[in-house]
Amino acid sequence: MDYYSRQINKLIEQLSGLPGIGRKSAQRLAFHILNMSVENVKELSSSILEAKENVRYCKKCFTLTDQEVCPICSNPKRDQKQIMVVENTRDLAAYEKTGKYEGVYHVLHGAISPMLGIGPNDIRLKELMQRLQDEIKEVIIATNSSLEGETTAMYISKLIKPTGVVVTRIASGVPVGGDLEYIDEVTLLRALEGRTAL
Ligand code: ZN
Repeated sequence: MDYYSRQINKLIEQLSGLPGIGRKSAQRLAFHILNMSVENVKELSSSILEAKENVRYCKKCFTLTDQEVCPICSNPKRDQKQIMVVENTRDLAAYEKTGKYEGVYHVLHGAISPMLGIGPNDIRLKELMQRLQDEIKEVIIATNSSLEGETTAMYISKLIKPTGVVVTRIASGVPVGGDLEYIDEVTLLRALEGRTAL
């Protein structure tokens, strides 16, 4: 690619390293950025940097946030005794969009996958078990309906059952292998309302 200058190439390369961005999209983005005003480019790059420097895990639920405790965990109106377990922060956002869930969350940051060598210790399971030492009335397992999501759900329910805390699983009807964030709100709500005890 020597028909672009070195710096343009570098920008294209950086952008094409992002998920879902192929070479063509990277070129389009690069030229879009080069056509933006200097102020706008500065704003874009500083928001990337600021997010990276300030975003961390919530001390309680491990979602990504820029505060020590995220706005959901620190909201007194949320039911702290009901914990929904999700694979990642995007799944949490999908449930929040329904506006109907009043409990709190626990973000695992992954799912158990023997194929990929991801075991129970590689996700935030220990932290979930620690939370169960407070008085919890229900743990809703809302991992994806993929093989990994189901394996994780089964593992968690076996782990929690001896503690006596009620464990439920969101209803299927969520397409198999479907990422929660792509599922519409009605389907998500139905899955939540139709959850069954494990
Ligand atoms: Zn939180």
